[in-house]
Amino acid sequence: MLKKVLIANRGEIALRILRACKEMGIQTVAVHSVVDRDLKHVKLADESVCIGPNPSVNSYLNIPALIAAAEVTNADAIHPGYGFLAERADFAEQVEKSGFAFIGPTANVIRLMGDKVSAIEAMKKAGVPTVPGSDGPLPEDKDQCLAIGRRIGYPVMIKAAAGGGGRGMRVVREEKDLIGSIQVTKSEAASAFGDGTVYMEKFLENPRHVEVQVLADSHGNAIHLGDRDCSLQRRHQKVMEEAPAPHIDDTARANVLKACVDACVEIGYRGAGTFEFLYEDGRFYFIEMNTRVQVEHPVTEMVTGVDIIKEQLRIAAGEPLTFKQSEIKIVGHAVECRINAEDPRTFMPSPGKVTQFHPPGGLGVRWDSHIYSGYTIPPYYDSMIGKLITYADDREQALLRMNSALDELVVGGIKTNTPLQKELVNDAGFKRGGVNIHYLEHKLASEQ
Ligand code: ADP
Repeated sequence: MLKKVLIANRGEIALRILRACKEMGIQTVAVHSVVDRDLKHVKLADESVCIGPNPSVNSYLNIPALIAAAEVTNADAIHPGYGFLAERADFAEQVEKSGFAFIGPTANVIRLMGDKVSAIEAMKKAGVPTVPGSDGPLPEDKDQCLAIGRRIGYPVMIKAAAGGGGRGMRVVREEKDLIGSIQVTKSEAASAFGDGTVYMEKFLENPRHVEVQVLADSHGNAIHLGDRDCSLQRRHQKVMEEAPAPHIDDTARANVLKACVDACVEIGYRGAGTFEFLYEDGRFYFIEMNTRVQVEHPVTEMVTGVDIIKEQLRIAAGEPLTFKQSEIKIVGHAVECRINAEDPRTFMPSPGKVTQFHPPGGLGVRWDSHIYSGYTIPPYYDSMIGKLITYADDREQALLRMNSALDELVVGGIKTNTPLQKELVNDAGFKRGGVNIHYLEHKLASEQ
């Protein structure tokens, strides 16, 4: 087993990783920026190292500082969490070259999945259903691009191969706008991602976002842990997630889950990962793979009973998966609300001191958060301050439990999006289940 893990992240996920390490008897090293010395996991870790000034580029994205911290503390592995360096192939490479285990897939697999064109190609080969598209980068020739557009059928989407975070995408509704849109997306992609490669795919009008959680070890074993629905989004940011995804066609689900497992074996995947799909009219369409643990992993943990972080640690130590596919049973329903320090209407970040804090509790209630009374939320990082998860026998009960848990949550001194989450769990359309990815934005627009 691993002896000492350096946690290359902050906030709730750093605390989540620390908890898993502690339970497994693994020593922990917390790294932090100057302002983050007061983070809960820094106080709880066996050792801590200040890796630089507050801006992420100088601290959490500072690869030499992180590797130096692992060297001076004699850590044997680095957990990247999510965000920051979690999907940077060059980071994984440098970690392993420096003699540490990277808790994630190999750099080559991160690179393969990080480029959306090569990811889609790999998925097609493995039998994962993809969005009808250009099957590769768009050529320079305008007539060829026009022909591809006609073959796919409008509306289409132009996407940057290196895009991420909801950027580098453009919808084209009519042929007359195609060439101009390709040029703009290309130059934007070149300046934003340093790679102007773009491709084309069918634009799905009203899809849902449904994703599949997988685990794979370094011995060729892979399993899935079922699916999640993350359709409630604002500006491509997930707001609430649930597992399992409600109202999914049984055959389509069984096929896609199997295809994801096959794809893991085919590409030599290692660790925890997520295949993201758009789901429309009973069909799944692959859009991308996240080669890391995700914010919403707890809903899957609740319905499967599998501790995903502990599995990541075991896999990185070279151990085989703890579970066989036949041992994975999806039982009950779980919902997660992301709690952000922000104005619930304008979405303006609201950093500052938490003057009063009371977490919800009771049967089936989980609160994953680093905040405490007296903690000051710094303005430099993501505004998510916690995740409230409820679990129950069925979806209706899980939502009722969430409603009650949101009422119990007290975070004084700053604004949070709790009132919006309260509204959403009581929203008639959402309660029916299966809303599409535009639902929240439409609801917000209609209330203005
Ligand atoms: P990113 O890496 O930037 O997150 P994704 O490929 O995951 O990019 O797409 C982000 C979001 O953009 C999706 O969740 C969906 O809302 C929308 N999107 C992407 N591709 C399509 C498509 N072909 N049709 C409709 N919406 C799409």
